[in-house]
Amino acid sequence: MQADPPLDTRGRHLRDLRISVTDRCNLRCSYCMPAEVFGPNYRFLPRSDILSYEELTRLARVFAALGVKKLRITGGEPLLRRDLPQLIAQLRTVAGIEDIALTTNGLLLPAMARDLKAAGLDRVTISLDSLNDATFGRMNGKGVGVAPILKAVESALQTGFTPVKINMVVQRGVNDHEIEEMAKRWRGTGVVVRFIEYMDVGTTNGWRMNDVVPAREIVARIGARWPVESADPNYPGEVASRWRYADGQGEFGVISSVTNTFCGDCTRARLSARGELFTCLFAATGHDLRALVRNGQSDQALTVTIAALWQARDDRYSELRAANAAPTAKAEMSYLGG
Ligand code: SAM
Ligand code: SF4
Ligand code: SF4
Repeated sequence: MQADPPLDTRGRHLRDLRISVTDRCNLRCSYCMPAEVFGPNYRFLPRSDILSYEELTRLARVFAALGVKKLRITGGEPLLRRDLPQLIAQLRTVAGIEDIALTTNGLLLPAMARDLKAAGLDRVTISLDSLNDATFGRMNGKGVGVAPILKAVESALQTGFTPVKINMVVQRGVNDHEIEEMAKRWRGTGVVVRFIEYMDVGTTNGWRMNDVVPAREIVARIGARWPVESADPNYPGEVASRWRYADGQGEFGVISSVTNTFCGDCTRARLSARGELFTCLFAATGHDLRALVRNGQSDQALTVTIAALWQARDDRYSELRAANAAPTAKAEMSYLGG
């Protein structure tokens, strides 16, 4: 099955698919799943609502036929999904997929890193917002300290994932005083830290523009300690802009989704755990692919439907936010996949 690669209304290809394998998580980061909202009575999706590995692999095959080359497994916390290496092994069989990456909070990684690697996972990104137990415990909403996440980074390195990346969501007055310390900790280790501007995903995190530390400030603060120079993107449409330490001690990235938007290059689609296609991280609703998959549609019919959805895509939320014209209804990131 080969189809003409569709272009959306703004001339963007479909290249990356982020697959949320669960809406559940073992942390409650205040910027993503605040504990007050995602409390004991919160109703997560029942198992039967979530796409099976067979269904996910079938959809991945259809997306690959439409031009997707990279997959990212995310959530929620993807390592909570049972037998995740099995999904990776199944996705590895999909023709056209060049890269499979995982974003995780790391808590369950040491026990699973080898199996994930053996199954064919290429890259791992681990989220770590602070090197201070008190700050990190507050931010992750569960009082979890830094040690288990450092252990996860170590296990990823030892297993041979390259490069290992760390995501740090920077919030003014919460953890921004640790930008330099985070840079220092990982300089020269081969680990690439990506400093992420705090985003207004979903509607529950109480986001305010004042909480955002602009990417240019992050770069200036690190550059004041160690001279840095900008580096070319690894590939067109790379989300993070890359910065290299002039003394050869590696690189870091900044993701400026708020202050320097990159919608023009956005080739990413997202598949929610329920099997809805979201064409933007900030979309309010998705398109129900699960119904099509479970109603016995052929691969050909699925291909035609997804191509049409992509061709109708007009999303550019971050640009609209910058112009004070953004819509307010949005799905939660833990649901549609970060
Ligand atoms: N649970 C996994 C983890 O934390 O790595 C994967 C899912 S999480 C939604 C994916 C990424 O989104 C994480 O690196 C997280 O820090 C980031 N993220 C979540 N909420 C965010 C927000 N409001 N602004 C910026 N990044 C956010
Ligand atoms: Fe869970 Fe990841 Fe969201 Fe934190 S950022 S609450 S670890 S899904
Ligand atoms: Fe892509 Fe939407 Fe983010 Fe713009 S706001 S870069 S269209 S996901």
